[in-house]
Amino acid sequence: MDIEKIRKDFPILSRKIKGNDLIYFDNAATSQTPIQVINKISEYYSKYNSNIHRGVHFLSQEATSEYELVREKIKNHFNIAKKKEVIFTSGTTHGINLIASGYSNILQKGDEIIVSNLEHHSNIVPLQMLAEKTSSILKVIPMNLSGDLDLKAYKKLLNNKTKLVFVNHVSNSLGTINPIKEIIKEAHIHDAKVLIDGAQSAPHFKTDLIDLNADFYVTSAHKLCGPTGIGFLYGKEVLLNELPPYQGGGEMISEVTFEKTSYADLPHKFEAGTPNISGVIAFGAALDYLNGIGLKEIENYENELLKYATRKLKEVKGLRIFGEAKNKISVISFNIESIHPYDLGSILDKMGIAVRTGQHCAQPVMDFYQIPGTVRVSFSFYNTKKEIDFLILAINKAIKMLS
Ligand SMILES: *Cc1c(COP(=O)(O)O)cnc(C)c1O
Repeated sequence: MDIEKIRKDFPILSRKIKGNDLIYFDNAATSQTPIQVINKISEYYSKYNSNIHRGVHFLSQEATSEYELVREKIKNHFNIAKKKEVIFTSGTTHGINLIASGYSNILQKGDEIIVSNLEHHSNIVPLQMLAEKTSSILKVIPMNLSGDLDLKAYKKLLNNKTKLVFVNHVSNSLGTINPIKEIIKEAHIHDAKVLIDGAQSAPHFKTDLIDLNADFYVTSAHKLCGPTGIGFLYGKEVLLNELPPYQGGGEMISEVTFEKTSYADLPHKFEAGTPNISGVIAFGAALDYLNGIGLKEIENYENELLKYATRKLKEVKGLRIFGEAKNKISVISFNIESIHPYDLGSILDKMGIAVRTGQHCAQPVMDFYQIPGTVRVSFSFYNTKKEIDFLILAINKAIKMLS
């Protein structure tokens, strides 16, 4: 991997922030966008902007074929059995809500739903709403100090009333890679359906959905070098067919009369209205870009950054890392004794370093450690060891200023 060459693909990385070179360590919140993806958005609007699936004219056909080509790319990249099992959404949150809302018509009083202590709020709140609506019961897989899920406890939660298990592949707050293959296998013994939130895993390593045997999978393009407001939902065909449409409107119908409307087949049944066409097309360009570098290469390099930064951070006096699972992606959550995460974050910002501070949309994780929040650094393949060295320097400077 030629990092210097890769960095040139990202116009934003040459920005100065408050007089310093930008060091972008907030990749778990959103990744940066390479020029190839930016150009693809511009290409769509300057060459074939038009509505899809319904035009007889040339532009509409061109836009439709570019749009549908991305469905094919996603199918191949994530190893999905059928193209119609790929539903475009506005992102992870939308995908989770679509499934949770669908099951509000299926779950019954006393049914059980399992979620984990490590989830993003977007994987907790829709399930609380679902449980409330259906009088079903929400149960939580506990975590331990290292930031791993307690699988023994998980197995005890499962029973013949368990209908759904929602769990993230990778925790956004700690970086833990969860053993989802095992989680899925155990759920299937009890005929429960599993949704995997892949927002944090898809950017960092390859996902094979046929091998995992997940029932549903959701992710967002903006975490993998694509634009915001676009993502996809994968669902097994038989399961998606059991769910009612999420929204009514154009494109999702086959026939409409005032007496009765019949719905379109998959995937259109779940894609009401004019979609984010440029977003989908740019999402395809982002996948091409990542595959051009190679997911395996990305994974190896990011692991190197993770190890390097973990070692360097541990040398900082009074610094504690939260979440030291054996299987982790390049996310490090930490605090420094007697310094509020927000104060540290603000000083780092003055030196051009973008980090995230707070609860990272995962308050139950912070509650578990009994802390108000952490400072989180999250690396991508365009980050460097030199940037990590500067971070350490800046943290030490901040400690002097704040103590
Ligand atoms: C970012 C993230 C989400 C939410 O993604 P949106 O694009 O905001 O819908 C959900 N889960 C995890 C693990 C995330 O990292």
